[in-house]
Amino acid sequence: MFNPFRSITTRMTLLLVALVAMSILVMAGLGYTTVDRVTEESAKNRIDHAARTAAALVKASNPHRFTIRYDNEERPLAFQLVEPTASSTLELQPGDIELLRVIASVNEGSANFFRFRPETHDFERFVSTLLDANGAPAPNRAFGPSHPAHAALLSGAVHVGQVPMMGRLRLAYFVPVLADETRVVGAMSVDIGWVDDLIAPRNALREAIGLWAGVLLLVVASLGALIQNIELQPLRAIARFSHRFVSGEPERDVPGRGRGDEIGDVAKGLARVIALQSDLERHAFSDPLTGLGNRTRHFADVAALLAEGGSGALLMLDLDRFKETNDAFGQGAGDELLMRARDIILAELEDGDRLARLGGDDFMVLTRRVSEAQALANRLMFRLAEPIQLPQGEVHSGCCIGIVLLPEHGSSAEEAHRKVELALREAKNRVRGACVVYHEALNETVQSRMKLARLLRQALENDEIILHVQPQIDLRNGKLHGFEALARWTHPTLGPISPGEFIPVAEANGLIPALGQRVLDQACAIARQWRDANFQFGRLSINVSPIELGQPNYVTQLREALARHNIDGSLLCLEVTESVFLKQDEADVTTLFRALRELGLRLSLDDFGTGYSSLEYLNRLPLDELKVDRAFVQAVNADPRKRNLLAGIVALGKGLGLEIVAEGAETEPELAVLRELECVVVQGFLIGRPVLPLMAPVEGERLHGLYRLAPATSRKQLTKPRVA
Ligand code: C2E
Ligand code: MG
Ligand code: MG
Repeated sequence: MFNPFRSITTRMTLLLVALVAMSILVMAGLGYTTVDRVTEESAKNRIDHAARTAAALVKASNPHRFTIRYDNEERPLAFQLVEPTASSTLELQPGDIELLRVIASVNEGSANFFRFRPETHDFERFVSTLLDANGAPAPNRAFGPSHPAHAALLSGAVHVGQVPMMGRLRLAYFVPVLADETRVVGAMSVDIGWVDDLIAPRNALREAIGLWAGVLLLVVASLGALIQNIELQPLRAIARFSHRFVSGEPERDVPGRGRGDEIGDVAKGLARVIALQSDLERHAFSDPLTGLGNRTRHFADVAALLAEGGSGALLMLDLDRFKETNDAFGQGAGDELLMRARDIILAELEDGDRLARLGGDDFMVLTRRVSEAQALANRLMFRLAEPIQLPQGEVHSGCCIGIVLLPEHGSSAEEAHRKVELALREAKNRVRGACVVYHEALNETVQSRMKLARLLRQALENDEIILHVQPQIDLRNGKLHGFEALARWTHPTLGPISPGEFIPVAEANGLIPALGQRVLDQACAIARQWRDANFQFGRLSINVSPIELGQPNYVTQLREALARHNIDGSLLCLEVTESVFLKQDEADVTTLFRALRELGLRLSLDDFGTGYSSLEYLNRLPLDELKVDRAFVQAVNADPRKRNLLAGIVALGKGLGLEIVAEGAETEPELAVLRELECVVVQGFLIGRPVLPLMAPVEGERLHGLYRLAPATSRKQLTKPRVA
């Protein structure tokens, strides 16, 4: 509801008006009462004077007619007839008219004689100087008991006061005319004019005061309101500015900051508060390294877009070689790479697009250009794949991108974020430089992986993971090269679950240390049993995840496991994948490998050729063998290029002094090629499928000499006795 008293202008104006009105009242009151008193006194003096004058003139002109009684201030109290008779009344005498005229003219009023008529008790005017409105002598009239002077005169006393005459009032002095001490025979009156004429100046003053007070108050009110309005204008501008600022309009200078008065102080204070607030905001919402928005800013932007019912696309970018750059060139180079990536991304964005860094090498782009999201992602991948020159060296980075569309893929910022992370993770699981738009199947995969993680945790607690072993044969002598231990999990209701499925789940859910410990323990137990049974199995290979190798106490765990089962490290071989180089420093890997070798363990590089390999590493690291990935063996007999590749790998391994183990030989023609290329250690379904460890000696028996190179024939020919 509108309340005018909320406004300072109204309140101050009212106060001003009240103060001025009060001053006027006091001053005018004082002036008016003074004038009133003066008017009254002067009227009283004049009427007294008129009475004295009249008495003096009457006495002088009629010394034988009247004697005059006075009060102690020489004012006449009564005229008494000098020679009264019982019947004498006041009669008109010659000279009365002139006498009255003189009196009237001296007193500037009128003078009258009245005769008392005992029969009517009236006083009858019989001579007067009074003129009517037209200037003619006023008609003689009588007055009775209703007249103000009547009672006083009748009792022989004077009457001074206002008396009615011709419808108006005159200020008059009535003196009784007595025949003797008590008998009233008439009266004489003098007046000094109309009462309203006498008090006219006082009334004029009152009107003037009223008028001027009104004018003054009006002027004060309007001028006061106007001036305050003008004075308060800047304050209103500051208030409007504050409202705009709070509702998020772009920041401008606070109005009135240049003023030297209190309003200037308010404006300066507000400017300081705003500066402080934007400082706090900067800290709370920005990433200190790149100056981009941070996680909080990003979530707020997405939430705002969703709240206003807008649509957009969210692109989450992850740089490919950030960790390597940090490792290779130091953190300074990593920071530099992030800044360059920021600039490259910003160059592809348009007005209204938002870029934030969520920490690490994760960047987030929020764009409203939904239809262009895929094209933008492609441009970003292309631009980030170009070599980046850092002061420390050249980096070939690249990136993966996950995309979600808003609001289709998320009704909240959190949901959108969870899904874009899924899309990015999927992109990273593909090749480098991939971009994946979120789809529901990703969510289902995650759900099923979460379920699998839960089941795996239970399986580990219930000891449901056991090892099977798969033989590896050395073609040179037909003997066992060793066995690879492969984890097997058969869920009571879901049935067998392949390690290709549950190992990544274990890696992603922190279950690898427990699983690895379990596998290591079982493998040691198996090796111990075989050794005790005098089974010549070569070595038992264990697959080790990079996460296990990264544990600081891994070597200790291994040493303890060997000691617990009382076996020598030379019975075991560890299979590591190339990704171990991605997760750890080369120096750390070298130290670790040396420590493992000191325990007598053999080291094998698994899945060679599928991942990230540096020939430098291969040369420097203390490895014993390379396991060529199944992909290079499969159908190698039908693909000359694959065959050349395999030949190259074999030559490389030999050049580095490493044993080559070929995985996944399934057919005779594949085996024949392996023989030809002198890839002499072979593992695969053709040789033997993974079996329970207790079946291994039987497998060994079966395989003994089965795939040996025939010594009598050519070097490249092998004998395989036909099973009759
Ligand atoms: P990997 O280390 O390369 O193991 C070889 C895989 O190839 C095994 O699959 C094996 O059964 C399979 N294989 C062997 N010969 C043939 C063949 O002729 N044809 C075909 N098609 N496959 C063949 P599996 O057992 O499913 O293991 C898959 C992967 O799971 C392993 O690859 C290894 O990376 C991982 N893994 C298995 N057991 C463990 C374990 O105990 N610990 C860790 N960390 N990883 C393990
Ligand atoms: Mg393996
Ligand atoms: Mg392998």
